[in-house]
Amino acid sequence: MALGVYLSVPFCRTKCSYCNFASDVFSRATFAGYIDRICSDIERAPVVAEQMGGQYESSVDTVYLGGGTPTLLDSAQLERLFVTIRQNFCLQPETEITVECAPGTLTAPVLEVLRRCGVNRVSLGVQSFVDAEAAVVGRLHKRATVFDDLENLRSAGITNINIDLIAGLPYQTTECWERSLSDAIASAAPHISVYMLEADEDSRLGRELIAGGTKYHAHFVPDDDLTADFYLAGCERLNAVGISHYEISNFARHGFESRHNLKYWTRQPYLGFGVDAHSMLKVDRAGKNFSEDKRTETDETVSPWRGFEAVRFAMPDSLEGYIAVRPPKRTPLSRQAAIEEIFFLGLRLIRGVDLRQAATQFGVDSINEFAATISELKENGLLESDGSVIRLTTRGRLLSNEVFEKFITIAESVG
Ligand code: SF4
Repeated sequence: MALGVYLSVPFCRTKCSYCNFASDVFSRATFAGYIDRICSDIERAPVVAEQMGGQYESSVDTVYLGGGTPTLLDSAQLERLFVTIRQNFCLQPETEITVECAPGTLTAPVLEVLRRCGVNRVSLGVQSFVDAEAAVVGRLHKRATVFDDLENLRSAGITNINIDLIAGLPYQTTECWERSLSDAIASAAPHISVYMLEADEDSRLGRELIAGGTKYHAHFVPDDDLTADFYLAGCERLNAVGISHYEISNFARHGFESRHNLKYWTRQPYLGFGVDAHSMLKVDRAGKNFSEDKRTETDETVSPWRGFEAVRFAMPDSLEGYIAVRPPKRTPLSRQAAIEEIFFLGLRLIRGVDLRQAATQFGVDSINEFAATISELKENGLLESDGSVIRLTTRGRLLSNEVFEKFITIAESVG
């Protein structure tokens, strides 16, 4: 099965107050060393995959450059990443190649590299089309910048475009939110993501919200009910114009769903390179790739890893740790953990999880173990079923984290 490849570029012009990603502002002098390191990792991918116990595959059908702001790299650095990918993997015809961009960073040289390197999808981190709203969270662009970028992208032949929006930004009102939705629809982008602002410890605004403080305009953040109303209004308006809801936060015209992100939700294998990049690879049935001791390769009865279904591994989440070549953190997945993932990843999709299909893959008894959990969630109005398919209700989508927790019992980790 062809892999997805993710490259993390953790550099930004400013740190947005709501951002909980492993990205920050670094001097341009840092970029060169990072590109050297990530290219060396790409070249070593088969070795690392084997060390982690995963099945390596050179065939690739999606590439995603995220971050951070990859378009902050100079054009030669950006091009080197694409050349290294093409030299080390076999890109399938029609490979989806996405680059995340902050509006205003698409200079003529960057656009030329994207075009030359076969980039066919761009994700624009707009967040809000209301200039004052974007400014208070640290975005550097204006509404007009976004429309200029859209025109330039289309002139360069890139029409598969995503626009990110955030519901629940400080000072956001119903009227402002409707304006952002209207502009996103008017932009004719075939893919739109709508995220609800997260109040967690990983962002400055999130920490301030939890503390009940006033820094970063936290006291002007709409309450949870209003943010939920914004999200639901977004679902309704986008669905009404044919930009269909296909994942909790994602909407697309038919055929424009993100093929790369679908790999995450449907548990297809992928490799990630760079700071905080995650990978998931299948292991063979005997688990022999997990063997620390080659003698166990032919002796399945003594292999300590026999029975694992897949392996996840994550690169260090700090630039310092990544440059210092700290080892990835490895998490082998048992069949039980894989089944749990089928539920809490698959339920993110609006089409839901087909229990009959899951039973064919993992056995009826294994799936039936979740019958009581599923019944309870249905009784609470968080799940609904349609034949053998279960899916989140509207209320379930708003409380999705609580639903997913019900399916998680396994925590396996090997450093
Ligand atoms: S540009 Fe994106 S990655 Fe960078 S700080 Fe802002 S939200 Fe985070």
